[in-house]
Amino acid sequence: MNASSRFGRARIRDFVRSGAVLAFDFDGTLAPIRRDPDHVHLSARMRAALTRLTARAPCVVLSGRARVDLELRVRGLGLVALSGDHGHDRKAPSVRERATLDRYAEALVPIVTALRGTRLERKRHTLAVHWRTATSPALARRHILRAVRALAPARSVFGKCVVELHADATDHKGTALERLCRSLRRTRALYVGDDTTDEDVFTRPGRIDVLGIHVGRGPTRAALRLDRQAEVVELIEFLGDALDGVDPRELKSPRCPTRAGTPRGTRAAVRASPDARDAAAGVPDRRARGTP
Ligand SMILES: [Mg+2]
Repeated sequence: MNASSRFGRARIRDFVRSGAVLAFDFDGTLAPIRRDPDHVHLSARMRAALTRLTARAPCVVLSGRARVDLELRVRGLGLVALSGDHGHDRKAPSVRERATLDRYAEALVPIVTALRGTRLERKRHTLAVHWRTATSPALARRHILRAVRALAPARSVFGKCVVELHADATDHKGTALERLCRSLRRTRALYVGDDTTDEDVFTRPGRIDVLGIHVGRGPTRAALRLDRQAEVVELIEFLGDALDGVDPRELKSPRCPTRAGTPRGTRAAVRASPDARDAAAGVPDRRARGTP
């Protein structure tokens, strides 16, 4: 169903007014994809729409970008939390994880050096190989795919002209959103994303109730779809309108179930991360605000 249709909008309005966390991917969702990822920024209209929305509901951004990179791009919006590196950034990388990423990098450097226009990006928990600006993207993809297959990483996820190698397959955007919801004591989330890695959220079974919106064409498990990235800003503005006049304190959802399905107690919320405690108190994310 199209998210911009009358029925799509009605479904979204009902869902977000029932106390959902509003979660978004960054590249290709909140901001259009550019040839150079460093040139990806939010438009002024998107910044205004998000700033209005974060005053009405808890909003989070989940991205494959490194957290420090992401922070710079969403600073000042009033988000309650961020998750970078596909949800891996909740903890420091282990020695084993770092050694594995070193091994991947060692094997891939000669290939990237030989393929003009390709780029290796080392993040704390993952390694990305980009070929958007390759002289021959199809050829580059073929060589990179072969090399990645030979490395047999714990997890590899192909996105738009990029492959991400994970040394640890435990975390992804689905687990990250689940954790954030638990910390915020919410059981439902609207999630908007455009790429393969976002399917980890759309297909996450059971733990939280997710209404997914896929941006763009291609197969997806999301319930709703927007055809173009340019439509996302209209969605954000619609969400702001849908929540206009709703007291955020009234946006309550049932307590988050534990793994066993029983209500989680207050103590668990007290143990939540500083970000989540700020969120519960209505304080914007301290790192997104640029404060220590
Ligand atoms: Mg994306």
